[in-house]
Amino acid sequence: MDTCLFCKIANRQLPGRIVYEDEQSVAFEDINPKAPVHILIIPRRHIATLLDAHEGDDRLLGHLLLVANDIARQKGIAARGFRLVLNCNSEGGQVVFHLHLHLLGGRPLHWHPA
Ligand code: AMP
Ligand code: ZN
Repeated sequence: MDTCLFCKIANRQLPGRIVYEDEQSVAFEDINPKAPVHILIIPRRHIATLLDAHEGDDRLLGHLLLVANDIARQKGIAARGFRLVLNCNSEGGQVVFHLHLHLLGGRPLHWHPA
């Protein structure tokens, strides 16, 4: 989508620290990291929120999880542990309306989800 920040990063119309990409997905460093490792994993296709994904997107959604695995291993945080976060809509904390997974790790993560 023309006006979408994350589409522009994926298309390299805006700068981003891309750490991984393939035909379906792109991953880049979060600009305001909340942990030593904080990567955003997005589908290349513009999907605004998780609610906009449909039945035919099941492989794509699964692929994003496997990309997270690969990046966690590549960043050396797989064995120690990491967290994936997916915020949906405003009360869920979503600010950028292009579906993304947050991959967080590199320090012990506390659990206060709300
Ligand atoms: P969310 O609240 O789940 O929508 O998360 C949006 C995330 O995007 C936040 O963690 C922001 O720090 C991050 N972010 C916003 N702008 C950029 C950008 N230009 N490059 C990388 N990450 C960004
Ligand atoms: Zn987009």
